Amino acid sequence: MKKLQMVDLKGQYDKIKDTVNASIQEVLDNTAYVNGPEVHKFQKNLEEYLGVKHVIPCANGTDALQIAMMGLDLKPGDEVITADFTFAATVEVIALLQLTPVLVDVEPDTFNISVEAIRNVITPKTKAIVPVHLFGQVADMEDIMALAEEHNLYVIEDNAQAIGASYTFADGTKKKAGGIGHVASTSFFPSKNLGCYGDGGAIFTNDDELAYKLRGIVNHGMYERYHHDVVGVNSRLDSVQAAVLNTKLPLLDEYNKARLAAAHKYSAAFAGHADIVTPLIKGTDDSHAFHQYTLRILNADRNALMKHLQDKGIPCAIYYPIPLHSQKAYADAKYNEDDFVVTNQMVKEVLSLPMHTELDDEQIKFITDTILEFLSV
Ligand SMILES: *Cc1c(COP(=O)(O)O)cnc(C)c1O
Repeated sequence: MKKLQMVDLKGQYDKIKDTVNASIQEVLDNTAYVNGPEVHKFQKNLEEYLGVKHVIPCANGTDALQIAMMGLDLKPGDEVITADFTFAATVEVIALLQLTPVLVDVEPDTFNISVEAIRNVITPKTKAIVPVHLFGQVADMEDIMALAEEHNLYVIEDNAQAIGASYTFADGTKKKAGGIGHVASTSFFPSKNLGCYGDGGAIFTNDDELAYKLRGIVNHGMYERYHHDVVGVNSRLDSVQAAVLNTKLPLLDEYNKARLAAAHKYSAAFAGHADIVTPLIKGTDDSHAFHQYTLRILNADRNALMKHLQDKGIPCAIYYPIPLHSQKAYADAKYNEDDFVVTNQMVKEVLSLPMHTELDDEQIKFITDTILEFLSV
């Protein structure tokens, strides 16, 4: 059996080695290392793939979130609502911009932000909602957009984990995750569904005026060379990363299908088990990009199970072990434990298994057999 890994970047690379190496070599030869033709090509390719009017490449997914918020002219003290159960980058940029983070609970079936919880914390100071499509499952965007419209709020999708996933509205319209809110961010960190070989990120929007602003902000607030109209940042996707992404973008749907197929095999093996909750696909199969395959382990010692898996050479991880409202940096007297019942429970139950494009049946069977055997004794 091939060695088990949470993410098999080498196995994936080996299959595209010749094309990807040639695309990198081309950048080395033409020396347009920053803002070269590969970056512009990637921008166009991604706009077409996502069906959004504007893609603004930048240096990483955290910058993408920050720049999106800067572009919306959010002011210190404005309240921004996001999920308590997510990677810290989401709340970090809110705090960095001196906006006021308002963390809310999530849904136990999807791990995504609870629309009811959002509704309960909206105040006259609320300016934006940041849904995170956690683990690859698109959040309840139809209800979130309706709520945002009702209260005149911006919606910033954190799409770092769900690139390629789709969302189907009640009337049958389908949109790609990241093309639904007013603006969205993503990350091309190597382990993400569309990963480059270093850091990378992008912002998406269908709003022409906002896109114009964002393109200036990523480049020191310049709209005309050496004229700095707004305070900006330096956040660029380099040409080598863009070349890698141009090679991998045409494979994204195939990659996401391989993840979905692995997820279905895991879930079939665990079906009906009293101590295991398998991840829900809310909507059609393409609504979940399976960035992570995350179980909930009930009535069993999750930490002992983790140790057993590690002893057997099966990597696994807890995403995420601590709710954001309990992190030193983001704790606040305004929070009440009763408002985070689901997140507080999820952090005790979740267990993410290896999930990537190269998992084979033998590996999946070994992983599921090992877990089922442990839980049966
Ligand atoms: C990875 C990730 C980010 C940050 O992306 P970087 O490129 O690592 O800065 C932000 N939000 C979520 C939900 C992520 O998973």
